[in-house]
Amino acid sequence: MSTPDYRAMIPGLVYRNQAFINGRHVPAASGRTFDCVSPIDGRVLTQVAECDAEDVNRAVAAARAAFEKGGWSACHPQKRKKVLTRFAELILKHRDELALLETLDMGKPIASSAGGDIPASAQAIQWYGEAADKQYDEVAPYRPDSVALITREPIGVVAAVVPWNYPLMMASWKLGPALAAGNSIILKPAEQSPLTALRIAELAAEAGVPDGVLNVLPGFGATAGQALGRHMDVDMIAFTGSTQVGKYFLRYSGESNMKHVSLETGGKSPNIVFADAGDLDHVARTSADGIFYNSGQSCNAPTRILVEDSIREEFMALVAKHARPWAPSDPLDPKTAMGAVVDRDQMNRVLSYIDAGKAEGARLAAGGHQALSDTGGSYIAPTVFEAVTNNMKIAQEEIFGPVVVAISFKDEAEAIRIANDSIYGLQANIWTRDVSRVHRVARQLRAGTVVVNNVWGSDISHPFGGYKQSGIGRDKSLHAMDKYQQVKNTYIQL
Ligand code: NAP
Ligand code: MG
Repeated sequence: MSTPDYRAMIPGLVYRNQAFINGRHVPAASGRTFDCVSPIDGRVLTQVAECDAEDVNRAVAAARAAFEKGGWSACHPQKRKKVLTRFAELILKHRDELALLETLDMGKPIASSAGGDIPASAQAIQWYGEAADKQYDEVAPYRPDSVALITREPIGVVAAVVPWNYPLMMASWKLGPALAAGNSIILKPAEQSPLTALRIAELAAEAGVPDGVLNVLPGFGATAGQALGRHMDVDMIAFTGSTQVGKYFLRYSGESNMKHVSLETGGKSPNIVFADAGDLDHVARTSADGIFYNSGQSCNAPTRILVEDSIREEFMALVAKHARPWAPSDPLDPKTAMGAVVDRDQMNRVLSYIDAGKAEGARLAAGGHQALSDTGGSYIAPTVFEAVTNNMKIAQEEIFGPVVVAISFKDEAEAIRIANDSIYGLQANIWTRDVSRVHRVARQLRAGTVVVNNVWGSDISHPFGGYKQSGIGRDKSLHAMDKYQQVKNTYIQL
């Protein structure tokens, strides 16, 4: 497959910048807009509708009406399968356009958007489309003069509030199962990255998703996001984002209609390297890939290296070596491995963590500074901190940038103790050749995913989500369907 000239495509690009409600693009009720800025060079790409509570009311009314009409919620599941399959095909057909929008909007390398995010989003929609007509309900064992039916029903109106790090992919992890189950949806993309969500709303309509079933409201969290969280006619919030905002949604629910809340929140994943890990060069290179991919803006990035004392020096020299090829460059160049961070605020936040690390006495082994400042964009050099202790701010808080911290341990028990000494529990990685140790350690790690001898191990068919303050519920896999469905018991006396 030949690589298109993405820069040459930019002048012909059309930005969908209005809200999508009841099957049409419309301006915000207030008429207000906000700047959509590219972190590649700081340029304003377009002005996007700034939706707030009034737009939320309109979208919820459209979603509810569509749900009650039943064209999606009560159709034959085979219809949902067909439409979602077509929706996935349209995403793939427009892969280059969507990849370019994603890269311009949030600064990730074009190779990642075109080769990763966009096809993975299509795959998520397709996978759940295929599942739509494969779920059976149950008949409970009961008295011979009665029947107890256990059936699943869509929850109703679901609001999906998503972050900017994998904008379309995080949205697709919600849209796939929620739509397959028959719900109506209001999607609020992050203010930093609304463009792909607004474009796929049209593709969903083209595929045959009825009007009102999928609405997209760009806008700010404190206004549009909060209005969704507090709306009396929203039945569920499916959230991915920070732990702090996840807690707001629990509060909004408690102070409104007790809507269901599923949360995929932050992480500070330990990457435990035992002395018997084998080829340390391979371990260091793979770890660096996991840390610096997407400029470190991955919730499950292995950002806390825990390394056994006896190999610490050798291993950390290798990590610093393998950090170098991740120096940021032009996101629109298909050879670029690491692009920008999402915006100037995020860049400054990451730089302030780097300052905190230095102030607390951690030692910089690589990076530690802004990069490519003459571009007008937001870039940070891949950064490695050594001599870190787990009580430091940089070891406890999620930095969400290309920064890794390394802590050493003496033995297995200490490794487990440090790994679990975190408010987060999204993922943990173990590197060892000892199969008994794999099982022993994996069982004791408080994390939703444990990856052994790699950094990612994840497929759409595997559940993904966190223990502790990394979240409530699971995305991906058939387990994700559960949270978008009510379970009804119908008892019939014969
Ligand atoms: P964020 O600040 O929590 O924002 C996430 C979404 O919530 C955005 O749409 C945001 O809107 C909205 N929001 C912000 N403040 C709100 C409020 N007061 N009320 C209602 N909604 C509000 O997170 P982010 O910075 O975009 O994303 C990074 C975070 O996502 C990291 O913590 C990362 O670990 C997490 N994440 C987790 C997973 C996972 O599966 N566990 C996956 C990816 C990312 P605006 O931004 O538009 O204002
Ligand atoms: Mg942007």
